[in-house]
Amino acid sequence: MIKIVVAGFKGRMGNTATKMVLEHQEFKLMGVLDPYAKERNLNEMTDYTSIDVPVFKDKQELVNSVEADVWIDFTVPEVAFENTQFALRNGIRPVVGTTGLSEDNVTTLQELAAKHHTGGLIAPNFAIGAVLMMQFAAQAAKYFPDVEIMELHHDNKLDAPSGTAIKTAEMIAEERGFHQQGHPEEKESIEGARGADYQGMKIHSVRLPGLVAHQQVQFGSKGEGLTIRHDSYDRSSFMSGVALGCTKVMESNELVYGLENLL
Ligand code: NAP
Repeated sequence: MIKIVVAGFKGRMGNTATKMVLEHQEFKLMGVLDPYAKERNLNEMTDYTSIDVPVFKDKQELVNSVEADVWIDFTVPEVAFENTQFALRNGIRPVVGTTGLSEDNVTTLQELAAKHHTGGLIAPNFAIGAVLMMQFAAQAAKYFPDVEIMELHHDNKLDAPSGTAIKTAEMIAEERGFHQQGHPEEKESIEGARGADYQGMKIHSVRLPGLVAHQQVQFGSKGEGLTIRHDSYDRSSFMSGVALGCTKVMESNELVYGLENLL
């Protein structure tokens, strides 16, 4: 049995992950964390009336009270960095889905994991289809260096561009390097019209109610185009990846960035 805690259990992703852990035969939910929770036990919540799992407001209290192998984190960017450091320092393997961590944050966490010989995973996207979309995009970039990324999410998302878009751009840039796209003299008559720039490619972020998580990577070349698109219609799409991450981090002694490195 892998003993798991979930930070951010009241959020959209955290709640879905909590249910996945409870339903998984090889996982045991040891505790959940939210600094603003009023409940002391999950059984006080309507979704979990028959589930006896302690709710913690404070992470130190959590590690003092329960034993855990894995720390699932679906919180907010400012908190996830600190939470992940805390998990590693306490020998708990982080499986982090929270996006918005900087490259420096990831490097610092990887160094800390190496120091503590503790495995872990940071995955900007846990959907298997999204991982394939990123890999296919990186492959296509070898032949189609001109590309724009459109990521589309629900309007409660805090960070932009999405972690998936950043990771896709990084993977594309690894294949094609810096490549300035568009007309060298193009001008924006409204600021931001051309989107964010990463190594010469543009990233556009759409936020609308009704959306979950979607991304389109659009390539253009002389006389032809190629579009690679992935859609998460439901948050359950991320859960097989989270479950895989929880299992795989138990066998690893390094902090891996990207689910594709565990497949
Ligand atoms: P959300 O609904 O806003 O959930 C975040 C939760 O974290 C909220 O319940 C928030 O509580 C709680 N929280 C805030 N500070 C905390 C702390 N110190 N300790 C524990 N919990 C804390 O957001 P979401 O849609 O679930 O998304 C969460 C994160 O996952 C985002 O970064 C999102 O981009 C990312 N995400 C990742 C994937 C992936 O596959 N990797 C997929 C979808 C989303 P309050 O509301 O009370 O502040």
